[in-house]
Amino acid sequence: WGQRAEYAVASARQQIGDIVGCQSSEVVFTSGGSESDNLALRGAAMAARSAGRGNHLVVTAIEHYAVLNTARQLRELYDFDLTVLPVDSFGLVSIDHVAAAIRPDTILVSVMYANNEIGVLQPVAEIAKLVRQHGVLMHTDAVQAASQMELNVDALGVDMMSLGAHKFYGPKGVGVLYVRNGVSLEPVMTGGGQEQGLRSGTHNVAQIIG
Ligand SMILES: *Cc1c(COP(=O)(O)O)cnc(C)c1O
Repeated sequence: WGQRAEYAVASARQQIGDIVGCQSSEVVFTSGGSESDNLALRGAAMAARSAGRGNHLVVTAIEHYAVLNTARQLRELYDFDLTVLPVDSFGLVSIDHVAAAIRPDTILVSVMYANNEIGVLQPVAEIAKLVRQHGVLMHTDAVQAASQMELNVDALGVDMMSLGAHKFYGPKGVGVLYVRNGVSLEPVMTGGGQEQGLRSGTHNVAQIIG
């Protein structure tokens, strides 16, 4: 019975890998979009700190609070520097603003794919290209985009991407963080080492299959 459950989790992981165009080992199951955003930001910030490289994060002013308040907490409690990029009257981030924000000590840029209130789509692929040219990690919160938009992580060129199942016909309480092979994150949930050591805890099997 246990092996059947394990197989079902592995095939759910493969299904997500097929949708986003990645390997199963790059799919981290979480409790939802919020946790995925937390793991991306906190995980990258803490990994950079423990490696002694970089202290600066860049997000946009219209991120979901799962990103924005995580970034603010990293600034207020952990002394990271934070740049919050403005958007124009259409809610769009300018590539020039992203370019101007990147510094030698920038760790991560997080720009959401589709906004949860006004639906604006950011030019994630163009921003990701620029960001990664500077050797900086690129995360996108694709929770709202998942049901509608291209999700191929290589086409988007992102290092990390958050998904939440209940925003694309799945159950509430489960999500995914795609983490590109080679990206170094500190776990925010420590324990028995499940999910490549990034998210410990016994799998929520029914939710993951859902
Ligand atoms: C809903 C939402 C989240 C949070 O996802 P949960 O699965 O509810 O935790 C994060 N970002 C965006 C853009 C969302 O719409």
